[in-house]
Amino acid sequence: MASKNDPAVFHALYGVRQPRAVYYKKDFVDYALMIAVCAAVVGATYGPLRALSIFGYALCAFSIVMFVLRHGVEWKVPLILRRPQDALWMIVYKVRNLSVPFLVSVALFLLENVLIAVTPRWPHHVELVRTIALWMFYLHLLGITAYRTVIMVDHLHKKELVRDVLLQTSWKRILLGKTTITGEILHAYCSGLLAHIILMTPVYLVIRYASFSLIFLPVVAAINLYVYMKWLKAINAWFYRDHWLSHNSELEFIWLHGSHHDAIPSAMIAIAENGLLEGFLRLTLGTPVTFYNPLVSILVLSAEIKMDMDAHQYIPGVYPRLPLKVMECSQHSTHHYGSIEPYSFGIKVDQPGRANEFKHLFVGVPDELKNSAKLDEALDGFEWENPTHKRLMSLYQQYHVRRETVVVPLAQNPATED
Ligand SMILES: [Zn+2]
Ligand SMILES: [Zn+2]
Repeated sequence: MASKNDPAVFHALYGVRQPRAVYYKKDFVDYALMIAVCAAVVGATYGPLRALSIFGYALCAFSIVMFVLRHGVEWKVPLILRRPQDALWMIVYKVRNLSVPFLVSVALFLLENVLIAVTPRWPHHVELVRTIALWMFYLHLLGITAYRTVIMVDHLHKKELVRDVLLQTSWKRILLGKTTITGEILHAYCSGLLAHIILMTPVYLVIRYASFSLIFLPVVAAINLYVYMKWLKAINAWFYRDHWLSHNSELEFIWLHGSHHDAIPSAMIAIAENGLLEGFLRLTLGTPVTFYNPLVSILVLSAEIKMDMDAHQYIPGVYPRLPLKVMECSQHSTHHYGSIEPYSFGIKVDQPGRANEFKHLFVGVPDELKNSAKLDEALDGFEWENPTHKRLMSLYQQYHVRRETVVVPLAQNPATED
């Protein structure tokens, strides 16, 4: 379990270290196989012919078409066949990185199911809880999808602004490729939709096949929330380790995390920091939330996904607008604009001489989270003052602070790179 700031723990790797941050055409066969597994997970979870699954298959097909258009195709033996042992290590890493809150959450989940099984005459109202949970599940999917759709519409409405901003960043390579800005926006939207459908599969399986008691609900919900408070203190160390592997084990990048970085950095792509299959694995072997009472887990996941979407809007001047102060004290944006670091959540409230400016933004958030970037500074020598962040802040000054409808033509923009 990762607990000390020891690189030997956080950077342990059994396979070959191969830092990755983008997809290439040589990844095509692995990517297509990964998408096929995504389709299988969706079909096996929701039912092969259910409307949600068919929608998921369509998104899978769209993902493959967009990969071919955006990256091209190179036929070669896939990495999963060249290094199958890395798939085994992937599971070993996840098990070794499990946190105490996760183990407590699973233990409580098992205990409740055993207690319900041995007290069949008690008024547990298991089916009623399941019905409410399923209603909440679908309302959650619809609500987040509606929010994602509103964001997509605003990006399409301001697509020239989106294009102008991205052309001044590391996304220029993709923007000048074969797709249009409309295609990039739709790709980001569909990536988020598919990732969301896959992310929720473990929660759906828990609702369908586990039992939850109405009479235990108050106690279980209270313990769930207590565990969540502990989890907020542990989450950054867990995330750093998992995320470091996602970028330094090539198989993990291609099969799990790469899809999170393959779409333009906007709120549309986000579902609590996960790629496609990555969401399924992290909710099965990572976060404790999946094993909460589903009435609690769906509320927590709704809040987490909404916050993560807002926290991924790194194109200025477009809905949802991240406050400038948040951009100044958080650098996950840097990670989406070409830098492999920071691996943590990248927040730093305690900045020399400026701590008071950011304190009000993270009231009640534990220090481990609101100063998460300190872990990157300790483990990787991450430098808070870096050109990528400075460059993005200047774009925010230009497009976010001024009237958001003003678009400065590239030819007249002194900040434009070649
Ligand atoms: Zn990443
Ligand atoms: Zn991200």
